[in-house]
Amino acid sequence: LKSKLPMVGTTIFSQMSQLAAQHQAINLSQGFPDFSPDPLLLDALAAYSQQGFNQYAPMPGIPALRAQIASLVQRCYQRTVNAEQEVTVTSGATEALFVAINAVVQPGDEVIVFDPAYDSYEPAINLCGGKAVHIALTAPGYRINWQQVAEAITLRTRLILVNSPHNPTGMVFTPQDWISLQQLVLKHNLYCISDEVYEHVVFDEAPQLSANCFADLAARSFIVSSFGKTFHVTGWKLGYCVAPAALSAEFRKIHQYVTFSSFTPAQHAVADMLAQQPQQVSGLARFYQHKRDHFVNVLHASRFTLLPCQGSYFLLADYSAISDLDDVSFCQWLTKEHKVAAIPLSVFYQTPPTARIVRFCFAKQDSTLNAAAEALCRI
Ligand code: PMP
Ligand code: GLN
Repeated sequence: LKSKLPMVGTTIFSQMSQLAAQHQAINLSQGFPDFSPDPLLLDALAAYSQQGFNQYAPMPGIPALRAQIASLVQRCYQRTVNAEQEVTVTSGATEALFVAINAVVQPGDEVIVFDPAYDSYEPAINLCGGKAVHIALTAPGYRINWQQVAEAITLRTRLILVNSPHNPTGMVFTPQDWISLQQLVLKHNLYCISDEVYEHVVFDEAPQLSANCFADLAARSFIVSSFGKTFHVTGWKLGYCVAPAALSAEFRKIHQYVTFSSFTPAQHAVADMLAQQPQQVSGLARFYQHKRDHFVNVLHASRFTLLPCQGSYFLLADYSAISDLDDVSFCQWLTKEHKVAAIPLSVFYQTPPTARIVRFCFAKQDSTLNAAAEALCRI
């Protein structure tokens, strides 16, 4: 078979998690919590399943969940969205991103992505015959130079794909970033996909902003999020896309043939949580800020230099005081010899800078973080 993705192998997340398991290492590589979700959520899932909610959900998602998503958007961003027409429930943010990219990108179109970029964007762009135009962000701040973005726009540019809070760097957009993005999207008649899966994980009292907050940007955006991150259930693969009715209609044409609909009992359980436990969402930033601060604290005595983390549940660490190895080799060595798995940063770049930086996931129990830090401080 002639490969449609000749440059693609197994994702770094599968590779590193497998290596971690093989060497009984503490797995701070792939991003997922090692603690349980709220028992109320698990009870609700079981109850809905036992009560017979086991058949196909409506294609765009059950009405109760879409209504709760619309309320969440209203609460967090004061934007009114129509749950009927503008909200679609998907099988994780991964599906939403894939579908949104397919809805927009035509053969020959260019899509601006910022490196380090989450790994699922480019293969989806390529499968539509599009071309990713990479703009590299660099340590320690990973800020976007919007003048550079303006210069990268051509007549073929169709879409800008942004991600704030950013995986893997923890960078969070300022209000000015959103305004600059909006200006470019309007000026050049572009579309935007805003990957906001860590939207509720913003630290240090920074404002929680979203493409939802900027009306002219929202009018041309597919805004993607994930309940996997919000409720500590990455394995449930439940996410959603908010987009204006005309864009959502195109989105749904594709969604209905990719998955048709998403796991029914989980949709009911999450709708109940959003209705009955809104503080779980509003408390998420504080919860993860505690984890970030704890992890930074216990790594203080190590020879890693920690980079700033404004949001998400990832922390970057520079290991140049420890080793001259390239980051892929360093992560393998760290997993095998020191029993801690991390993700090399270079894999998220088209043209990797020479920095020696790895990503740790701190969505872990304090005991896991302590054990990892103990090993990392011995190096
Ligand atoms: N985008 C980013 C930036 C992510 O970090 C992730 C998950 N790690 C996703 C999308 C995919 O989310 P989901 O697991 O809901 O498919
Ligand atoms: N998003 C997760 C991460 O960044 C991994 C998701 C996956 O394994 N595909 O680690």
